[in-house]
Amino acid sequence: MYKGRILLVGAGLSGAVIGRQLAEAGYAATIIDGRDHIGGNCHTERDPETGVLVHKYRPHIFHTNDAGVWDYVHRFSRFEPYKNRVKTTARGQVFSLPINLHTINQFFGRTMRPDEARAFVEAQADLSITDPQTFEEQALRFVGRDLYEAFFKGYTEKQWGCAPTELPASILKRLPVRFSYDDNYFFHRFQGMPTHGYTPMIQSILDHPAIDVHLQTWFEPSAADRYDHVFWSGPLDGYFGYRLGRLGYRTLDFERFDHTGDYQGCAVMNYGDADVPWTRITEHKHFSPWEDHSGSVCYREFSRAAGPDDIPYYPIRLVDEKAMLAEYTELARRSEGVTFVGRLGTYRYLDMDVTIREALDTADLFLRHRAGGTPMPALN
Ligand code: UDP
Repeated sequence: MYKGRILLVGAGLSGAVIGRQLAEAGYAATIIDGRDHIGGNCHTERDPETGVLVHKYRPHIFHTNDAGVWDYVHRFSRFEPYKNRVKTTARGQVFSLPINLHTINQFFGRTMRPDEARAFVEAQADLSITDPQTFEEQALRFVGRDLYEAFFKGYTEKQWGCAPTELPASILKRLPVRFSYDDNYFFHRFQGMPTHGYTPMIQSILDHPAIDVHLQTWFEPSAADRYDHVFWSGPLDGYFGYRLGRLGYRTLDFERFDHTGDYQGCAVMNYGDADVPWTRITEHKHFSPWEDHSGSVCYREFSRAAGPDDIPYYPIRLVDEKAMLAEYTELARRSEGVTFVGRLGTYRYLDMDVTIREALDTADLFLRHRAGGTPMPALN
């Protein structure tokens, strides 16, 4: 006998993790997804021709400081060591990212040691900016105009479709500047890739007798009556039929090309120049360096505003969206019997580890509310 019946809309990380936690706690979990595969935007699949493991909806690299999340994913997959080392092509040269001592020395044609480089970059910085609000202010304050224009300005205009003066400083805060030769893109203590990709890992999270997955199945509001609670990981505005308008997203277009051998020698090559139309080229076999393939699958990545039928990737969260988001958030808060989760459900750009942490916490919260007989909130 089950303790109750739960519907999860979306078979990505949020739906899978909440479903699993609640299934283990004695609930029957039904998971539906409109796509024909599980895994949401983490979906990976093997290219039938080359055997390369392809990250279908842009690269996903697992990194976290959360030991609980790291243990959790290891219950469902083996992980291989992986460090994200990104290069960028700008002004006819290849540089190392994130901006580190190698980048700085190469860019300025110097041989500075860490303290010298720090003093040198500080001398370039615009110290009159005391409280950077925009992306551009953050860049000018911390790296100065030359590095900003070479590595961030053009890329960011292409990625976000607007001037860096219109974007919040928080976007740039994701990227470190290092005065050492450490070129690991992430700071996090735990980093790696699931050996066979994210889709088998999520398949194994879903592999529980109390979990039922239905693909190519869209949510019908009337279905909610058959469940004790709904967890919605689809778009927040979509749940309300877009009645207040559409929250803005950036979507990506991928132009695939194949290559024999090694195309670019690394997984991710960014393109900093504004006149190169793509933001980056990804070569997927380099995301699985423990594998050996003679063929290669590459994607040129282009960013643009998402239309109604496009896959949403990046929540924009500029001024207009923030006002609309506040209204949808208010509608969500007043909803009963549903909880909004994940990147689309809460309209935030979430890394995978944060998504899993929030999903684990949401499942715990649900169980506490059930035990106490109190209603589960729609938003945490
Ligand atoms: N960025 C940039 N140049 C680069 C890489 C990143 O200007 O070569 C900016 C860009 O605006 C991007 C932000 O820094 O959106 C955050 O970078 P990150 O690599 O975290 O982007 P994501 O992985 O979220 O696409």
